[in-house]
Amino acid sequence: MTMPIWISSGWAGVIDMTGWRAWCVGAWMLLGVIVAQAGEVKVSDATRFDQVDLVDVGALIPEATLEIRYAGDDNFVGRPVEGYLAPKCYLLRPAAEALRQVAADLAGDGYRLRLFDCYRPVRAVRDFVRWAHDLADQKTKPRFYPNLDKSTLLDGYIAETSGHSRGATVDLGLERCDGARCELLDMGTGFDRFDTLANTDDPRIDGERKANRQRLRAAMQRRGFRNYPLEWWHYTFQPEPTPATAYDIPVQ
Ligand SMILES: [Zn+2]
Repeated sequence: MTMPIWISSGWAGVIDMTGWRAWCVGAWMLLGVIVAQAGEVKVSDATRFDQVDLVDVGALIPEATLEIRYAGDDNFVGRPVEGYLAPKCYLLRPAAEALRQVAADLAGDGYRLRLFDCYRPVRAVRDFVRWAHDLADQKTKPRFYPNLDKSTLLDGYIAETSGHSRGATVDLGLERCDGARCELLDMGTGFDRFDTLANTDDPRIDGERKANRQRLRAAMQRRGFRNYPLEWWHYTFQPEPTPATAYDIPVQ
């Protein structure tokens, strides 16, 4: 515990302040200790997927469609993102096995998974942040953030770190299949649309599009995935297998 250390080293400075100011300083110091303890994620020095049991989901669920957007140009950065050397999907084994169950559950009703992103290397997240700071580059605005100023994307849309780097988070949609023909279901927005319309329960999304979002959420929840309510496509397996470890192995 770090608390006793804080009390012994910090108390002398707090004690000669008057009441309100002392309370504020103490409260902020305590908050800092709590945040540091709850949010600490270390980057693994592993260089191969088999060292950490990140599984090739394309091999595990061969019927799933892989449309790994950050390996190509059709994403908000507008080019392949650093760390994506191939359009492949990796997840830690418990999450990958649970996703296989989701795919099996849905197959009987004629649905298939469309995977947009899975494990994401730490270096890719850093690439996002660099792109977000480059306000001169606006070429993907019409498709991905038409209603937002690029300067606001770092306030809630693009984060310095991502749960995807911890290996148990997946971005996906659904396809409806008729025989061998499969079509992507309409979810009301595309993947990675920076807009409140992408909030899973946004009231402007109704009818078939609402039903499609709910079908995906019910199927994912049944096998242990939790939706991020601001993005209909983003799911994290619970409990996370390695909640304090991020990975930086290139996707290949
Ligand atoms: Zn995501």
